[in-house]
Amino acid sequence: MNLILLGAPGAGKGTQGKNLSERYRIPQISTGDILRANVRSKTPLGLKAKEFMDKGALVPDSIVVGMVSDRIREEDAEKGFILDGFPRNINQAEVLEATLVGLGKGIDRVIGMEVERKELVRRLSGRRVCRQCAENYHVIFSPPMNIGTCDKCGSEIYQRDDDKEETIEARLAVYEKETLPLVDYYSKKSLYSPVDGIGTVDQITGNIVGAIEGRSNT
Ligand code: AMP
Repeated sequence: MNLILLGAPGAGKGTQGKNLSERYRIPQISTGDILRANVRSKTPLGLKAKEFMDKGALVPDSIVVGMVSDRIREEDAEKGFILDGFPRNINQAEVLEATLVGLGKGIDRVIGMEVERKELVRRLSGRRVCRQCAENYHVIFSPPMNIGTCDKCGSEIYQRDDDKEETIEARLAVYEKETLPLVDYYSKKSLYSPVDGIGTVDQITGNIVGAIEGRSNT
């Protein structure tokens, strides 16, 4: 099963992608995580991407598209994958489609995680992330047991540069301009399923599973 998780920054794509990856035993492919790993290890790709990421802008398609195209060809993605944070504009969606056609594959469902803007800002501004395993926390709603330390792996928790308040607005504006048109794009292909992104993590996973398996999520 090949899935796309679509939604604004802070909609919960990373958290839900992890749950779905465990449930369906297919890899979560997060372009944001791959880019951050490249920034961390200071690869040429990472150094180039960082200037865009720090501003809250999209990294050029020429960088991201090749990254995803390589990743979906890996063996663990043979039975399926969950794309989290890709595609983020129409061009990326078109290239993805052409790549998948070339592999004799297609997208089975696009899950649109719907969360209102005020809630997105609240989630993003309090978000903290583990440097090592990318586990997410929130300073108020889901703090770690020990301040600054990941419950899962014990590594340091930090605030992403692009989760600082001045960058959040830029990222949401980019989402509305570049990514939101994908809702229409995939609706026209009858692939789009909107899901309520408000609730507990398990409730939202239930909504998504309902949409994937054809049950009503109301
Ligand atoms: P995310 O972790 O998905 O919020 O991504 C963090 C940042 O990485 C974004 O603000 C972009 O700068 C960059 N990025 C992630 N995915 C993409 C993509 N598909 N296209 C372009 N830039 C991306």
